[in-house]
Amino acid sequence: MSSSAVVWDPALLGYDMGGDHPFNPVRLRLTIELATALGVLDDVPLLVPGPASDELYRAHAPGYIEAVKEAPMAGWDVGHGLGTADNPIFTGMHEAASLVVGSTLLGARSIAEGKARRAVSIAGGLHHAMRDHAAGFCVYNDVSVAISWLLDNGFDRIAYVDTDVHHGDGVQAAFYGDPRVLTVSLHQHPFTLFPGTGYSAEIGKDDAQGTAVNVPLPPGTKDAGWLRAFHAVVPSLLAEFRPQILVSQCGVDSHEEDPLADLSLSVDGHRTIYETLRGLADRFADGNWLAVGGGGYQLLRVVPRSWTHLLATVLDRDVPARTPLPSRWTDLVRELAPHAELPQVMGDGGETGYAAWGDGIDDAVDIAIRDTRRAVFPLHGLDPDDPRD
Ligand SMILES: [Zn+2]
Repeated sequence: MSSSAVVWDPALLGYDMGGDHPFNPVRLRLTIELATALGVLDDVPLLVPGPASDELYRAHAPGYIEAVKEAPMAGWDVGHGLGTADNPIFTGMHEAASLVVGSTLLGARSIAEGKARRAVSIAGGLHHAMRDHAAGFCVYNDVSVAISWLLDNGFDRIAYVDTDVHHGDGVQAAFYGDPRVLTVSLHQHPFTLFPGTGYSAEIGKDDAQGTAVNVPLPPGTKDAGWLRAFHAVVPSLLAEFRPQILVSQCGVDSHEEDPLADLSLSVDGHRTIYETLRGLADRFADGNWLAVGGGGYQLLRVVPRSWTHLLATVLDRDVPARTPLPSRWTDLVRELAPHAELPQVMGDGGETGYAAWGDGIDDAVDIAIRDTRRAVFPLHGLDPDDPRD
């Protein structure tokens, strides 16, 4: 078994946008509670992060960091995307957002220092934050900071794969001209969802052309279609790019019950995605895998199960989908939400078999597959029209 680091501290629950904002930290709390109740975290020492400070400047403008620090005192009109419905200002915002960055950075450090081959920071994945402004519930971009840090600490080929339902725009923007970082995002089509970017034609610039990859999927895409698209694009690129580490953003708002988006994956689909990422990291990235969380707004029924599978997969303690939910956990959820209708087991009965692209069947996702392959495969020496590539 390879060594794996889990970064967690209850202080991460302080990233709380309050009221009925969808980015509710209860999803993290219930994930850790569920993983604990199932024994996934037995004998796993949790790494306790500290807040990032100077490292924030890797991904953010000084003026923006100042604005975040001062926002709770300054009132609502501070600019930089702060004080909006999506990104409300809250007390301790700078400190809480810095701790999220510190969490993902600690995972990256554990791998860079050889203490772990894999690390997981479920509080991370704030992929929409931009250099100079907050966006999409994200204040600081923990992923961009961690990738930048890795580039200065022994890694010069990094693959980032983003499976959140939204385009990983902040991370893509941070490395759009950097050929050392391959960013791949599979997401619901930008015509139909925030942030409105992530077209196949966004491929990177200058000598980094081909190192931004986007797969915009039609609303309603299910596990089989999603996995068909993933396998038609991602493994070939990783095989050519040969990263030294795989960084994956594992947002679970692609679930069919997610209230903010319209893809139709199941928890079983998410579980399969994590297994696949683990296999790709082992095969193409020297076994180095840094996994972070991300979106996911079905707080009780989906996120805790999906991210428990993520923790379990990172730890090689895979939990079968038929595993019953422990009563210790369901009792806790009923205390918080007495009327919630909870699932019985760790899966949804989702169908995760898929037909490989190139089988002659015309699937709804094949437009995205063809567009994406034609946009970037030739830049990697791959034939976009040959299913063997
Ligand atoms: Zn999202």
